[in-house]
Formats: sequence, C-alpha cells, structure tokens
Amino acid sequence: MNGPTHSRPGISLVIPVYNERDNLALLHAELTGTMRSVGDTYEILFVNDGSNDGSARVLRDLRAADAHVRVLTFARNAGQSAAMDAGFKSAAGEVVVTLDADLQNDPADIPRLLEALRGWDAVVGVRQKRRDSLVRRVSSRVANYVRNRLSDETITDTGCSLKAFRKAALSRLVLYDGMHRFLPTLLKMAGCRVQEISVGHRPRRHGTSKYGIGNRLLPSFMDLLAVRWMKRRKLRYEVKDDI
Ligand code: UDP
Ligand code: MG
Repeated sequence: MNGPTHSRPGISLVIPVYNERDNLALLHAELTGTMRSVGDTYEILFVNDGSNDGSARVLRDLRAADAHVRVLTFARNAGQSAAMDAGFKSAAGEVVVTLDADLQNDPADIPRLLEALRGWDAVVGVRQKRRDSLVRRVSSRVANYVRNRLSDETITDTGCSLKAFRKAALSRLVLYDGMHRFLPTLLKMAGCRVQEISVGHRPRRHGTSKYGIGNRLLPSFMDLLAVRWMKRRKLRYEVKDDI
C-alpha cells in the first residue's frame, strides 16, 4: 500500500520551494515517516520556483531515491501562488495537502488534517504558537484582522500554508499572483465548505524567509481589495422560470 505509486496516488503533497536547499532532505524524511503511518498512497510534489541555491540538485537526488517524489521546475521565480497553482494542476491525488518547504509546518499534523477533511472541501490550519519574530506575529495578527473585516471573512490564520483540499474543489479556482493568501475565501465563494483546525508551528532553522514588511504589506493589501471587490460583485441570481 505504501510502495512506490505507479497508479494514481490518493494524496498529493504540494510544496513550493524557493531556495530551501538545507531543508529539503529533512522535510522529505519527516514526510515519509508521516505518510507511512497514514496508510494511503501518496506523492510528494515539489515545485521548484526558480531556486538558485542548489535546491534543484537536492530535489533531483530525492527524486532519484524515492519514486514518491516528483519535481516541477520553473524556468524562473514566479511566486508562491504560481508554484501552488502549478502543483494543484499537476497533482494526481484526490486530496491535496499544501505545506511550506522550510519545516515551519509540522508534517505530524497531516493525519489530523486528513481526518478533519472528511465531509469538508478544505481544512485550513491555525498555527497555535507562532514561532516567528514579534514583528511577524504582530503584523500577521493585524493583517488577519484587517483582512477579515474588509472581506467579511472569519478565517483565523490565512497565512498558514498547512492546508488540505479536495482536488475537485481546487479545480474550481482561477488563481492570480498573491491569491495563495486567500484560498479559503476563494473556495467559500465557489460554494465549498471550509473548516479550521489548530496545528503546530516551528522556527525556521535553515534559509531565510522570502517575505518582509516591504514585499508583503502593500501587495497583500491590494490583493485584499481585489478579493473584497470580487466577493461583493459575485454574481447572485436565481432562475425563477425557464420555459
Ligand atoms: N516560496 C516560493 N516562491 C516564492 C516565495 C516563497 O515557492 O517566491 C516558498 C518558500 O520556499 C516556502 C513557502 O513558499 O516553502 C513560504 O515561504 P516563506 O517560508 O519564506 O514564508 P514565511 O513562512 O516567512 O511567511
Ligand atoms: Mg516559512
């Protein structure tokens, strides 16, 4: 059941990778341990988003050593939303689990996430004890508050990448740059049922965060206005008669 998957795997783990060389082998080992205990077939789909730190070589080695591993490689850096979109489209599993490549998400949470997906279209993580700097924790709290207020939403921690989805639900989405932060809202707009569960969080030990106030605050605020607009202008009509 857990051997290399020649037929369609049940679960696709989709992992965007941008300069995460020293995290990848550790992540692969942790994921393998977890997925063996899950007892469903799986693939680990790394999307290399134009890394230039040697991540490509590590991914090639992982691919050569483990038939569960697949690697999509972008010609150049295209952003986390693009990497996730490519992963979603290429994922063979009926269930897609997303997580970061930097080991901040804990693979040990995946079984609970899959359990919680029963009867739902998506399950999104809420990081219980954020292991980021104070500035990051405060700015993310403010961002979540503003996001929820302006888009009439109730998602606690949209920045948590650890999420599980039904592939059929993801197929309804058309993503734009920056939209990886709004997946729960976009799914709800598409009529999907989304629930939250608490998950762990760990400090980044290798490599650096790709985001800071400078490249996150203004772009994600503009994205929020776009989502607010989309939500307000969503077509709402009821066909009363069709003769
Ligand atoms: N990432 C990516 N492309 C980018 C930026 C980030 O694929 O242009 C990946 C990154 O390698 C990581 C995840 O997206 O796996 C989240 O990035 P990061 O950990 O830097 O974000 P943070 O946790 O600091 O918010
Ligand atoms: Mg991170």
